[in-house]
Amino acid sequence: MTHVLVIGAGPAGTRCAEACAEQGLRVTLVGAEPGLPYDRVALGKVLGGAEPSVLAMPDPARLGIHHLPATRVTRLDRLARRAMTADGQAIAYDHAVLATGSDAWRLPLPGAEHALMYRTLEDVAAMRAAAIPGEPAVVIGGGLLGLEAAAGLADLGCDVTVLHAMPWLMERQLDAPAAATLRRHLEARRLRFVMPAATAAIEPGAVVLKDGTRIPARLTVLAVGVRPNIALAEGLVTKRAIVVDDHLRTSDTHVFAIGECAEHRGQVCGLVAPALAMAEAAAATIAGRPTRYQVPTLSATLKIAGLPVWSLGEIAPEGAEPISIDDAAFGEYRGFWLREGRLVGAVLCGDAADSGFYQGFLGAEVGDRAAFALGPAFFKAAA
Ligand SMILES: Cc1cc2nc3c(=O)[nH]c(=O)nc-3n(C[C@H](O)[C@H](O)[C@H](O)COP(=O)(O)OP(=O)(O)OC[C@H]3O[C@@H](n4cnc5c(N)ncnc54)[C@H](O)[C@@H]3O)c2cc1C
Repeated sequence: MTHVLVIGAGPAGTRCAEACAEQGLRVTLVGAEPGLPYDRVALGKVLGGAEPSVLAMPDPARLGIHHLPATRVTRLDRLARRAMTADGQAIAYDHAVLATGSDAWRLPLPGAEHALMYRTLEDVAAMRAAAIPGEPAVVIGGGLLGLEAAAGLADLGCDVTVLHAMPWLMERQLDAPAAATLRRHLEARRLRFVMPAATAAIEPGAVVLKDGTRIPARLTVLAVGVRPNIALAEGLVTKRAIVVDDHLRTSDTHVFAIGECAEHRGQVCGLVAPALAMAEAAAATIAGRPTRYQVPTLSATLKIAGLPVWSLGEIAPEGAEPISIDDAAFGEYRGFWLREGRLVGAVLCGDAADSGFYQGFLGAEVGDRAAFALGPAFFKAAA
């Protein structure tokens, strides 16, 4: 029977292993992290005090998958079609699927080795152990993960400052007014912000900026992005990540790559929805039903320190017609971008209840701008 070896038991690898097993294939799932696969997206719950078991995903063994946790693959011998593990095993395969994801990026700063990261259950345990109520903490990075880490540390009683290199928060998902709404919400929860901030070094007790300012820090978390983990891709075509075709095949027909370690048509995904879609397409192809990966519509539904935030498509693209409603008193903002009257991007901040309505308009003409921006009730009344 065809043997599929899936390397990496994150969301992409676990979903691919399950889908292969459901197709009747023999599957081994090898993951470097200990224990059952878990829901990485919900790590914030454990930072907030929930038991790690709330994140556990169903045991792959229930589908007959041979799961090897706490096992790191160190090398692929692609000629012999086998994977070598750190504990000395050699696992033969017919098809290997690389699902090794990303590692949090340790910024090359003096003292960065002392900073904590926010990517795994182990990282969260380290953050909880280091957080002392009333003591100062610094989070470097004002993207989604940095803000989630900062809000979690504030909930643990730390006095938190966020340093962000860009002029506004979450600049990839939000435009400036939406980010201002988010910042006000977080400031009301006693978080402080320094931005744009140029960090020079992490020292015992402080983070030092390039202008010499010292920000007290009993604990520092680095959340400045991720780097695809492509250590096993020796000899395969790689750019930023492992290059795959529309069927998620690498330059070796017996090796697939999915999730954050894969690069498809120049794009490396950083969200879970495309990683899962890749997993499904690769499994179907391996099972003999060649299936093209369809890139899902890029939308993100997030809750940051209790504030709903939703973004869709292109955010503030050059040359697009903007429409916005900024209700600072209610802590709500909605922004839309049109090209030739058609919706190309949207942001809802503070209230994302209408996200389904707007998602359905992506690429479509919006008609009456004011009624559209006010939401479905006004839009129907105006029609
Ligand atoms: C705190 C947090 C919150 C997030 N929130 C959201 C969100 O709200 N929405 C969203 O869409 N996305 C979110 N993400 C991003 C999302 O988690 C990732 O997009 C997703 O995890 C990518 O899945 P993956 O399987 O490709 O990689 P990963 O999750 O990185 O999994 C890769 C796995 O492979 C293992 N591995 C690596 N090398 C080896 C090896 N040599 N041998 C064996 N195993 C190996 C790793 O240990 C890891 O367990 C969040 C991420 C974090 C950290």
